[in-house]
Amino acid sequence: MTRILLLGGTGDALRIARALPSTGTSDGPHVYSLAGLGKVPDDLASAVRTGGFGGAAGLTRYLLDERIGLVVDATHPYAAQISANAATASRSANLPYWALRRAAWQPRAGDDWRWCDDWYGIVSLLEPFARPLFTLGREPLAHLDAIPAHQQWTIRCLDAHPGNARARVLDARGPFSHEGERTLFDRHAFDVVISKNSGGSATSAKLDVARERSVPVIILRRPTLPAADREFDDPADLLHALRTIP
Ligand code: NAP
Repeated sequence: MTRILLLGGTGDALRIARALPSTGTSDGPHVYSLAGLGKVPDDLASAVRTGGFGGAAGLTRYLLDERIGLVVDATHPYAAQISANAATASRSANLPYWALRRAAWQPRAGDDWRWCDDWYGIVSLLEPFARPLFTLGREPLAHLDAIPAHQQWTIRCLDAHPGNARARVLDARGPFSHEGERTLFDRHAFDVVISKNSGGSATSAKLDVARERSVPVIILRRPTLPAADREFDDPADLLHALRTIP
């Protein structure tokens, strides 16, 4: 069977990794690859590797050395660098590049979404607000010294961090329920939420609760990702296609 390199780091990617055939290939087991920032699973039939490859050139070498036959990109929609590298390296190694491209969230009636492209856009849109909830990952932690005097930030991310007098850090991992999000909004009276457009259901409850409470949401637009030879928005369809390859 074709040896698969599965680029992961998301819940969807882990579900795909768990469903890969445990028999592996004559060249070795399938490989699940992580940047190495989060939890590393120790219960997979596939080999697990962590850490960067050294750019597109390093990834090309890896694909050839490990006799990989198919690259499957199931990384986060904001992980644009590894996706670009994977597309380039697959082309260089003459391999197919498949990608799971999770559908973006769309605004619904009652939503007040405000769009921006980067951190500077976020800061500018944030100016009128006092009690933001950041759900972007760790990036706000780099700006704790620049919090305006009229703001008290709440930053939810995977890092345990002490925060400071103007910022509390909630070290939490999704999925997040509606009830949990309502309790959090009640406790801290957020007046704005800052979010990526991650798509999927694991972290979407905050958008529903923001709509219920007429709280605006600042959305960081998705980066541009490379075209893939095959794209799937449903992990089940991707898995089905993987089962048909020789
Ligand atoms: P990135 O900016 O696309 O990747 C940076 C570098 O990390 C890559 O060039 C690569 O290093 C290495 N890398 C990333 N994913 C890898 C993987 N699966 N296997 C091996 N190496 C990998 O992505 P990021 O730094 O992970 O995250 C960018 C944004 O996406 C952040 O805002 C983050 O919060 C969000 N995000 C990412 C993930 C994810 O699955 N990566 C999950 C949740 C959220 P080399 O160039 O050395 O190969």
